[in-house]
Amino acid sequence: MKTITMHYIDGAFVESHGREVVDIISPTSGQAIGRVTLADEEDTRRAIAAARRAFATYGRSTKEERLEILQRLYAAASARADDLTAAMVEEYGGVVQFAGLIVQSGVTAFQAAGQALQEMPLTKNWHKTTVTLEPVGVAGLITAWNANTLFICLKLASAVAAGCTVVIKPSELSALQTQVLIEALHEAKLPKGLLNVVTGRGDVVGAELVRNPNVDKISFTGSVAVGESIMRDGATTMKRVTLELGGKSPTILLDDAKLDKAVPAALGLAFMNSGQACAAGTRLLVPRKQLEAAKRAIVEAMRALTVGDPADPKIAVGPMVSLRQYERVQSYIRKGIEEGAEVLVGGEGRPTGLEAGYFVKPTVFINVTNDMTIAREEIFGPVLSVIAYDSEDEAIRIANDSKYGLHAAVLGTDLQRARRVASELRAGRVVINGMTDDPQAPWGGFKYSGVGREYGRYGIEAFLETRAILEA
Ligand code: NAD
Repeated sequence: MKTITMHYIDGAFVESHGREVVDIISPTSGQAIGRVTLADEEDTRRAIAAARRAFATYGRSTKEERLEILQRLYAAASARADDLTAAMVEEYGGVVQFAGLIVQSGVTAFQAAGQALQEMPLTKNWHKTTVTLEPVGVAGLITAWNANTLFICLKLASAVAAGCTVVIKPSELSALQTQVLIEALHEAKLPKGLLNVVTGRGDVVGAELVRNPNVDKISFTGSVAVGESIMRDGATTMKRVTLELGGKSPTILLDDAKLDKAVPAALGLAFMNSGQACAAGTRLLVPRKQLEAAKRAIVEAMRALTVGDPADPKIAVGPMVSLRQYERVQSYIRKGIEEGAEVLVGGEGRPTGLEAGYFVKPTVFINVTNDMTIAREEIFGPVLSVIAYDSEDEAIRIANDSKYGLHAAVLGTDLQRARRVASELRAGRVVINGMTDDPQAPWGGFKYSGVGREYGRYGIEAFLETRAILEA
């Protein structure tokens, strides 16, 4: 049993003022593996005060000083990359291969932010006018549980590059992973108060960050419902907000796609991170004339999506993070069946031999129409809806017929055509012919998928204010 009783405030690990203690449950075994003492409002206010004091100096830092700090953060995080991956496997149940990639993209976020900062002009002059980009102030960073290291590193890197100081509130389901990360980042020997971390409940610690007048900006990753409340409650103190919210991303399989490559790519998009991914391509749009061939290719390719112990490198899908998440996924599978969709692979209940823990069967539904609940709502689990279409225009219309617009994919042989279809999609990121990433490309949502962008210069801009000085 690991016990966590401290928060990270003003450059040191300090005992929690909050007294609520909760168990940390392994999603793989369903057994308690640790205990964490959660922060309260007082811990949060102490962290905000430390960040405010540190901002008085760090807010005036030069580009070179920030680049040097980003380099130290990179070195500190990369030294513990294996431990960070192990913690993600143990506490969250992320499959080890994907967890390794997530941790790596978190670690490299510090380098990527450094590169973007180097290329960003922070000052512009003309005639008797000078325009500068200034740090917005103290930033509250509130994160979800499905990629803890990535979210914390990415938001911290952008904030530090902009000259902001931060208070991080990780998900209460990520206490062990956060502990490893903060121990690692402590070695970067940052100026006191630049980085503060308080693990606690959203409606306690998160709510204090949102209402506190000494916090200037909230950068949030999580659900639409909480995103709405942050926007509403933050308005009282005129908070700047970046919201990275949910998705119901479409994958359009064009009729010139080669099924032997395109179907595994589509399943990779749908089931990445065990389906607990905001970008998961959970609506697969297939030309009706190829539906039967696509169904056969899906059944065949699903054999490779083995479920089991996330520490085993041969496993593709791990458990759901919590019992609550397991039950949520089950209820959507039931709903799909009730509404008339047909289970092609998977279905309700636990996979055979995996009765302990929160494992679900990776499930593919066919005969889905875009008005069904399973095509409209974010499930956040390994459940794919296959929807047939008759023309390219109809595919684009179905893809865009969603309240979400975070991510999308187009699979096809004719690249010109795939690019044309991609340019019609109302989503913040569109990938062509499989999942890929670029740490300088913006990430964020149209519509209910969010407000603002992260990554590269776009992510740094979200932590900046513009000031003009004019001489008479
Ligand atoms: P959540 O909204 O329940 O929680 C996210 C964070 O907000 C947690 O730290 C939580 O404690 C905190 N929170 C809860 N209530 C709060 C309040 N009243 N005030 C302030 N903070 C509060 O989401 P989750 O279940 O942790 O994560 C799953 C969701 O996150 C999914 O909808 C998923 O799509 C989304 N997500 C989006 C992205 C993206 O980049 N767009 C990435 C990953 C996850």
